[in-house]
Amino acid sequence: MTQFKGGYVGKIARINLTKSKVETEKVKPAFAVKYLGGRGWCARLMWDEIPAHTDPLGPKNKLIIATGPLSGLLVPGAGKTSFAAISPATGYYGDSNTGAMFSPELKQAGFDALILEGKASKPIYLWIEDGKIELRNADFYWGMGCLEVEDSLKKDLGDELIRVASIGQAGENLVKFACITCDYGRQAGRTGMGAVMGSKKVKAIAVRGSLDIPVADPEAMQKIFEKSMRQIVQHPVLDIWRRQGTMQFIDWTQENVCLPTRNFLSATYEKYRGINGDIMEKTAKVADRSCFACPIACGNFCIVNKGPHKGIGVEGPEYETASMIGSNCALPKLGDVIYANYLCDNLGMDTISAGNVVAFAIECYEKGIITKEDLNGIELKFGNTQAVFDFLEMIAKREAVGDLFAEGVKKAAEKLGKGSEKFAIQVKGLEISGYDVRAAQAMGLAYATADIGAHHNRAWAIGYDIEVGRENYDKKKVKKVIDLQHSRPLFDMLGTCRFQWLETGIELDVYARFYEAATGIKTTTENLLRASERVYNLARAISVREGLTSKEDWLPERSFTDPVPEGHVKGATLDKRKFKRMVKTYYKLRGWDEKGVPTQKKLDELGLKDVSKKLHAP
Ligand code: SF4
Repeated sequence: MTQFKGGYVGKIARINLTKSKVETEKVKPAFAVKYLGGRGWCARLMWDEIPAHTDPLGPKNKLIIATGPLSGLLVPGAGKTSFAAISPATGYYGDSNTGAMFSPELKQAGFDALILEGKASKPIYLWIEDGKIELRNADFYWGMGCLEVEDSLKKDLGDELIRVASIGQAGENLVKFACITCDYGRQAGRTGMGAVMGSKKVKAIAVRGSLDIPVADPEAMQKIFEKSMRQIVQHPVLDIWRRQGTMQFIDWTQENVCLPTRNFLSATYEKYRGINGDIMEKTAKVADRSCFACPIACGNFCIVNKGPHKGIGVEGPEYETASMIGSNCALPKLGDVIYANYLCDNLGMDTISAGNVVAFAIECYEKGIITKEDLNGIELKFGNTQAVFDFLEMIAKREAVGDLFAEGVKKAAEKLGKGSEKFAIQVKGLEISGYDVRAAQAMGLAYATADIGAHHNRAWAIGYDIEVGRENYDKKKVKKVIDLQHSRPLFDMLGTCRFQWLETGIELDVYARFYEAATGIKTTTENLLRASERVYNLARAISVREGLTSKEDWLPERSFTDPVPEGHVKGATLDKRKFKRMVKTYYKLRGWDEKGVPTQKKLDELGLKDVSKKLHAP
């Protein structure tokens, strides 16, 4: 049997919240290696432990929090933590991950992963320190925002250096796109993991660790690290990444006519210069923010520089926030975006879904589907900045019609009817992130087939669309999406950031060398990608078991019916027939049947025989 000598600390904590009981389990080497870590471990544990047709907000759902074998080690950006559960947003497999310092601290406290099961009878927080886990009363903290609870816990525990993952009022109120905030400014935003944590009455997880994380070959690790760091710091893109982070992409999406604007009606924003990276640098950014061991430091700490919210600061915005809350809700000024970002972070809501939901509600209001009375008197129109702020609070607190929109655009549209389904911009119940796909077939396919619902992170294929042509539905695009769906999420399994690979040219092979140095287990890039493919198929199997059908591998109606109104792709929409063919080709290339179910052959090939037996049981 393959035995690891490092990378993993070798322990998983099982926390039964119903019984207030904590048990520690040893990590089985075969499991560790086959699923690598992070979302890979989460998916396998979900398949094994969560029964089919589980209520995402019921006690049988489990919130699994997993680090990766590289988290907390000498690897650039090795601070990623995965949070996974059956998603309350989609009802299917859900996960989300965050950077910063939580996972290094958790491993130094002696745990690779936590399984939160059952439900506490009253609010609690977890205090984890050097191998010990306590469930503590959180009555005092319940009702606080994420930023406040983090401050309070640090003060009350008398240690500025503890790391905190927490939920805000949105998580407490089971808003379907509630997030988990780590280290003030980093969010596990997507798929409603904050609502799962809220349903279990867990307000926060505070961690402090001083134990060593074992490394099989520290010398080799140090050498690879130093070489990678030299390559990163000498790379020409470092300058713009440090100055603007992902905010540089506002100009790029504007130029390439794919910047979501006014609920994805337009693909350019006439006021984009008011919310872009340049204006941020000139007027708002006061510091860089970095995750563990990362020289890129793509995070921006910004402060509102004038107006009623002057002085409010937040880690952000980044591109997704600036596009979804900025152009998509037609906020004209960066200061407004920063304040809305602050509200979302503190209330504990995913900025991508929140921006999408607000823009959808505005369109509903402008079309007369909801009224001022439904909104407690708010005039929710594009351009009314204060109304956006007020509505974000209404959603998090589930006040008035905010209660309905807290369910996400899919469920809100199902209830509202009157044609609103056509402009509810989501896939499988997860709101689409910041790229218009009407002239981007690969990106459209990436959204339609992403394992958690529409999310750019699984396969950022829009660059490829722009490179090879924006009218083309060919097999190469399908193949590209599949390749990206294996390479990008691999980083969430290893517990490290993908930007060093994507932006500064660190080869995938270097991560195989890092893995060997950390664990002492020989591997190859092919092995790692195979593990990622295994997990992609396992995530699909979980969703199929929950009832997912191929009908949901589809895009919102607006992508097919409302032409892009401007720019060099003016008039573009996706063609339904051609797009359907792309989805079929995707199934075929993946080894799935025509219903989008991984075949027995494919699952067996990937070493998932037991999964295949159950999934295909007569
Ligand atoms: S590139 Fe950005 S997100 Fe990635 S590790 Fe560095 S600071 Fe974190």
